[in-house]
Amino acid sequence: VIQIGQAEHSVITTCAYCGVGCGFKAEMKGNTVVRMVPWKDGKANEGHSCVKGRFAWGYATHKDRITHPMVRDKITDPWRQVSWAEAIDFAATRFKAVQARYGKDSVGGITSSRCTNEEVYLVQKLVRAAFSTNNVDTCARVCHSPTGYGMGQTFGTSAGTQTFRSVEEADVIMVIGANPTDAHPVFASRMKKRLRKGAQLIVVDPRRIDLVSSPHVQAQHHLALKPGTNVAVITAMAHVVVTEGLVNEAYVRERCDLPSFNDWREFVSRPENSPEAFEAETGVPAEEVRRAARLFASGPNSAIYYGLGVTEHAQGSTMVIGICNLAMACGMVGREGVGVNPLRGQNNVQGSCDMGSFPHELPGYRHISDTTVRSQFEAAWGVQISPEPGLRIPNMFEAALSGSFKGLYCVGEDIVQSDPNTQHVAAALSAMECIVVQDIFLNETAKYAHVLLPGSSFLEKDGTFTNAERRISRVRQVMPPLSGVGDWQATMMLSTALGYEMHYGHPEDIMREIAALTPSFAGVTYEKIDRFGSLQWPCNENTDEAGTSLMHVGHFVRGKGRFFNTQYVASDEKVNARYPLLLTTGRILSQYNVGAQTRRTANNLWHDEDQLELHAHDAEERGIREGDWVGIASRAGQTVMRAVISDRMQPGVVYTTFHFPESGANVITTDSSDWATNCPEYKVTAVQVTKVMQP
Ligand code: SF4
Repeated sequence: VIQIGQAEHSVITTCAYCGVGCGFKAEMKGNTVVRMVPWKDGKANEGHSCVKGRFAWGYATHKDRITHPMVRDKITDPWRQVSWAEAIDFAATRFKAVQARYGKDSVGGITSSRCTNEEVYLVQKLVRAAFSTNNVDTCARVCHSPTGYGMGQTFGTSAGTQTFRSVEEADVIMVIGANPTDAHPVFASRMKKRLRKGAQLIVVDPRRIDLVSSPHVQAQHHLALKPGTNVAVITAMAHVVVTEGLVNEAYVRERCDLPSFNDWREFVSRPENSPEAFEAETGVPAEEVRRAARLFASGPNSAIYYGLGVTEHAQGSTMVIGICNLAMACGMVGREGVGVNPLRGQNNVQGSCDMGSFPHELPGYRHISDTTVRSQFEAAWGVQISPEPGLRIPNMFEAALSGSFKGLYCVGEDIVQSDPNTQHVAAALSAMECIVVQDIFLNETAKYAHVLLPGSSFLEKDGTFTNAERRISRVRQVMPPLSGVGDWQATMMLSTALGYEMHYGHPEDIMREIAALTPSFAGVTYEKIDRFGSLQWPCNENTDEAGTSLMHVGHFVRGKGRFFNTQYVASDEKVNARYPLLLTTGRILSQYNVGAQTRRTANNLWHDEDQLELHAHDAEERGIREGDWVGIASRAGQTVMRAVISDRMQPGVVYTTFHFPESGANVITTDSSDWATNCPEYKVTAVQVTKVMQP
């Protein structure tokens, strides 16, 4: 796959994998990539890259790429290759027929964090203007939607508060439910550099991840909690801060909403919220929680970095709120070296949320019920927009199974492999009458589709991605779309065929419209991105020309930071005699998400299957040895993998990744979800593990 040769020219673009958003120089010979070199001026990576980004270009020209549109009447029929015009007409005719028969809200769209900001914006516009419904959602639903809710409620907006560089000024770093060395490697290197210079580290994670103990980094505290008990741990830490007089009273008085703080102070100081009261539930010794809380409060600069181990729980939103409460109580928001920082798993999770692809929000996190905001979009788009939020992804599945949701436009997202309880998703898709999948490969979701529109890889795109620092970087076209049509053009054609005309000459025109309608993007232009290398939102007349590197300085976006009580509620997913172990999931260094891209690159040299990690004690009890095949069964389904005996695990907890469709990790995850956002509880599944014969 790796081609070595002499480059003739190069193009600066942005990695399309994780939320670090590294800048890369694609070195080219004609239309062929010779190599990808990390861009030394890239602000997120400063010349570094990881093993994923280096080889990312391999999948762009893989033989599995779809290069022609295809259609079929029924999903049991063979695919028929057709022209773009025929495919778009086929899709539009079907969507219109579905809406005529079942109503305008019987269809919807799903966008993806793999798409550019401009593409996401167009998909949500198509849904709202051409479908005339708010049934639009994004794959961020299944990862960071609780971040949107929790940070929005407490701070006033959903975004990391710092730049990555800020970690270099942290004295205490708390990593919660994230494994940066595998999932955000370039940022992890920066964090480790700071730790080697003496910053103290607290890790809150059921697994002993690399950061806990590696040759040059040792965590001062590892709170190895049982999966599903995050909220108990963060509330117990808050109890210590409040009852031991560690609150930054001056900060709270000046910056926070006092009635909500006083209410919270009373709540967390109750004896039932102490570390001792939660010790049996969380499995974390009370004294360890007390020491970690004291260290965090003492700072002077304490920063929190968290990942999907926080959000993908039934109490994901509560946990995000708990993190924000703790940071505010200790005065750890609004300057360098502190802050609350969600580590976004995918390249454009931040951007896909910013661009209005949630069913209740227009671009810039403005609620659909806000008449003033809605009327701005109505005037610009020339349509009426319903004030009612549309369906979230899980609600679309439920509505499909009950017969009221019949059509889906799904762009860049493999919901069958990535959403929980695969059988449930497959049943819902089977009940629909028009599914249009726009993707670069014939993915698992495409098996249920009636129309397949070839998508473009990041090397074929022009546009922007927004990383976990709110940094907007250019994605520049390195080669023309293999299908001849870019993703934004396909969306435009479909919208026009549905009766709502779209006419943009270039993605830059779309960004002009975004900037005109979204205050936090008002100052964003391609010219300025070229001039500064990148911009950070908010970027408008009230900020520096290059935007805002540090948020909530002096005051929170919402004004006064607001506290909320975080009542711990145990997960519904319980172990019992039949399902005695708890499964949690995550990623490995060489693979990315469902693996559709990395599995088609040189990265498979490092790792080519999902495996089940378990503790030696649990293995011995079941007669399992290293490399044995094991069956994993949950209340939702079952699968088979190879076993790895690992001292990273605690007894009673097992772990796997979800990179390979053959093992189908999400066949076993359940469809219970976060109370506020429906983000699935991927991180807690009761399972039974038994030794089996090789499948
Ligand atoms: Fe950077 Fe993430 Fe890409 Fe690695 S995967 S090169 S850390 S953006």
